[in-house]
Amino acid sequence: MAYDFLEQSTRLMKQAAEIGEINPDVVELLSGPGRLIAFRIPLKMDDGSSRVFDAYRVCHTDALGPTRDGTRISPDLNLDECKALALVMSIKHAAGRIPAGGGKGGIAADPGKLSKQEFERLCRAYIRYLRPSGPDCDVPGADVGTDMQSMAWMLDEYEQITGHHAPAAVNDKPPILGGTLGGYEATGLGVFEVFEAAAEQIDFKLEGARVAIQGFGQVGSVAAKAFQDAGCKVIAIREIDAGVYSEDGLDIDKLLEYREENGSLEDFPDADSISNEDLLTCDCDVLVPAALQGVITKEVAENVKARMVVEAANSPTTLEADEILLERGVTVVPDVLANAGSVHLCQMERTQGLSDDYWGAETISEQRRRRLVHSYQKAAEIAEEHGIKSVRLGAWIHALKRIEEAVLARGWC
Ligand code: NAD
Repeated sequence: MAYDFLEQSTRLMKQAAEIGEINPDVVELLSGPGRLIAFRIPLKMDDGSSRVFDAYRVCHTDALGPTRDGTRISPDLNLDECKALALVMSIKHAAGRIPAGGGKGGIAADPGKLSKQEFERLCRAYIRYLRPSGPDCDVPGADVGTDMQSMAWMLDEYEQITGHHAPAAVNDKPPILGGTLGGYEATGLGVFEVFEAAAEQIDFKLEGARVAIQGFGQVGSVAAKAFQDAGCKVIAIREIDAGVYSEDGLDIDKLLEYREENGSLEDFPDADSISNEDLLTCDCDVLVPAALQGVITKEVAENVKARMVVEAANSPTTLEADEILLERGVTVVPDVLANAGSVHLCQMERTQGLSDDYWGAETISEQRRRRLVHSYQKAAEIAEEHGIKSVRLGAWIHALKRIEEAVLARGWC
């Protein structure tokens, strides 16, 4: 059965709300998005023909502050996916003590099938048709299918329409337009930093730990390098089209170089190939899903050999699988903490953009690490207070309590 991200996220919220004794009216309020818009974008193609693309923006709750985050451009994007992602973003912000709510949106389109000019026109049109209300209301950022260049076009479109310099109106833009340093590596480095904090709590030895990673994109490749630099041994990596395995450890720089030259990890010398199924259940100490949602199913969880699962991707573990992993004594470092590097970075990007005062790389790095580690420790502490093993539930309870406090203070419930 296909993975139902919205059902899983809503169920998880209700489970955490019950344990955390969250006000039922607040839970009802958070069970759906506060605001959403679905719209259609007509686009003139290079050959003179016209096409229409479905587009969305979901703002889950602005109880703690303006809604923020990703703009996904992918062929199968639908409203339910945006609703689930927006809810998770509310939790990620609140668990990280960031004064923002969850926003997510995008366009159902395949960027690979558009020319550069068509893609630029589509990104700009998204902002024209969405008409975002600015930094104090809802702030789109990048996600799957969008990057710094897409966000530069979107910010430019916003500033052209309003006639105002407003760097904080769009996140993940280039530093020259008011973006922040450290954007590309924030999530991957954060994955390692949160892992390190979790490892310390269970006396897990980093030196020589064998790591398997699914996904070698922006997040997976940066995390892989960080694991290697800390003395761990990355033994397996799988991408969409190929996988590599070496008991002696893979050289991450060589892998990056090889993929740059060959466009794929296929036939990388001095390594065996590995399938997705084998990677997820291979004999390793740390498993890092950094590609897809719903890949650690009940069946996979029963066979996971790793002592720690570090969720770099959003929602890679089903709720049933999560329970099995916990019962089997596997430490699960949940997505809302492990991959929150980018949300902390976006908060720093906002502060810099609003003040037009820009920080050095060292300050950003130090703050990202401090904020991520603190969020993990807080979630672990809350889990312990409630007598549960799940740090995931600890993070969700922490987030829900903060949102509840804001909702009640505003008199909404
Ligand atoms: P990316 O597009 O740069 O890389 C995706 C990687 O996943 C690629 O290596 C690709 O080959 C691999 N992949 C895709 N389908 C696969 C399959 N069927 N089997 C094995 N590998 C497959 O994306 P990214 O930015 O690295 O994001 C990875 C995950 O992390 C996504 O789930 C994303 O939502 C999540 N995430 C990313 C960020 C961020 O800042 N980029 C922040 C939070 C969460």
